[in-house]
Amino acid sequence: MTIEVWGSVQDRLRKDLGADAFKNWIEPLKFEGLEGSVARFHAPTGFLGNWVSRNYSDKIQTLFAEFGAAVARVEFSSGLAKAAPAADKKPVQPVQKVQSTGSADLPGAPLDKRFTFDNFVVGKPNELAHAAARRVSEGGPVTFNPLFLYGGVGLGKTHLMHAIAWDAKRRNPDARVLYLSAEQFMYRFVQALRFKDTMSFKELFRSVDLLMVDDVQFIAGKDSTQDEFFHTFNALVDQNKQIVISADRAPGEIDGLEERIKSRLQWGLVVDLHPTDYELRLGILQTKAEMQAAHYPEVKIADGVMEFLAHRISTNVRVLEGALTRLYAFASLVGREVTLDVAQECLADILRASDRKVTVDEIIRKVADHYNIRMTDILSPKRARAVARPRQVGMFLAKTLTSKSLPEIGRRFGGRDHTTVIHAVKKIEELRSVDNQIAEDVELLRRMLEA
Ligand code: ADP
Ligand code: MG
Repeated sequence: MTIEVWGSVQDRLRKDLGADAFKNWIEPLKFEGLEGSVARFHAPTGFLGNWVSRNYSDKIQTLFAEFGAAVARVEFSSGLAKAAPAADKKPVQPVQKVQSTGSADLPGAPLDKRFTFDNFVVGKPNELAHAAARRVSEGGPVTFNPLFLYGGVGLGKTHLMHAIAWDAKRRNPDARVLYLSAEQFMYRFVQALRFKDTMSFKELFRSVDLLMVDDVQFIAGKDSTQDEFFHTFNALVDQNKQIVISADRAPGEIDGLEERIKSRLQWGLVVDLHPTDYELRLGILQTKAEMQAAHYPEVKIADGVMEFLAHRISTNVRVLEGALTRLYAFASLVGREVTLDVAQECLADILRASDRKVTVDEIIRKVADHYNIRMTDILSPKRARAVARPRQVGMFLAKTLTSKSLPEIGRRFGGRDHTTVIHAVKKIEELRSVDNQIAEDVELLRRMLEA
């Protein structure tokens, strides 16, 4: 009976985790049965058992319960621990012999189905990173090694790496593509040390065609992991195998990373992902909205809502996506069209948290600098074009970059009426579409203020 329950649990896991993750992590497990309220599994390696235990045991437990078997704990044993060769014995055949064909059995981290090139929106801030990632995924002669992608949180590093992996596998199903985070790299390495199995660790990592290590800043300060990473890296470069690395900073700026590694990382192509700009955010929102719309065909989003979100949530694409997901779920639940008001209400907390720290004073100062006029001119009653236009730009920026009300903005710009502010905002909006100079000024100032 319990074996049938395990069958049902497996079916659900396959659905929920996706075929790849299922194949990598769940399929290799052998269900040994229920012992009281403990579900026992045998995993082919300690690493795999630990991984599943850390990442999926809650899920497995819940699913067992759902199918009527009370499970209080999930336990994994592994062959590797028992079979770890004693130090004085001749090396025996490694327990987990590295397979030589196909990449399905490479124990990398699961890849997210949504993180493909198709779903990646390209804009100025990420076009170089995107082009480099494309080049790598096409295979062919290795022109830069490694490709080092860096940038702040949520700018698409992981997305691009997964996209490379998907694309490389599609082009060449036999390619051995291994993607994992630096943390997982370390974890595997430590496990290998513990079970005296560094041989198969080395063999595994040296046998791949394309190695991708995400968030490499993680190994800063972790000396033996760095060492191993360095050797792996060199071995692959020597064999002309492509490596892709990501980090939240440039190689030279990662404290606690050995100098030789820093310099090695800079041998290839170092590309940064810049903070998103308004257009890119809007593009990403539209792409993600299409994906949401497939789940919630009934939901209607009013004009201007996307633009509003792209304006107001500028720090992190992940937060932007979260906001969108919430909007769709909310609209579908309450059956209302998502207007600007609804969005503001439904996302109040997110909007508050991502409220820019840009102040009106700062805007006035930057605008004055930019147009080479004095701050007091902006605040003065003067109406000469050379002063009036910058003042309008300032008001426009204050309206779009801060959450200050129109009367408040008017007050801060030399005690003007809120209708003056409305007029200024409209004027700049119009001018931006017909006057390149104004459009550039606004964009430049926005960028400086948001930086
Ligand atoms: P990072 O690894 O740089 O912290 P991620 O790759 O995890 O960021 O991206 C965070 C989220 O934002 C993901 O859901 C990703 O799909 C999305 N995202 C980031 N940049 C883009 C882009 N240019 N196009 C589409 N989605 C993006
Ligand atoms: Mg990432």
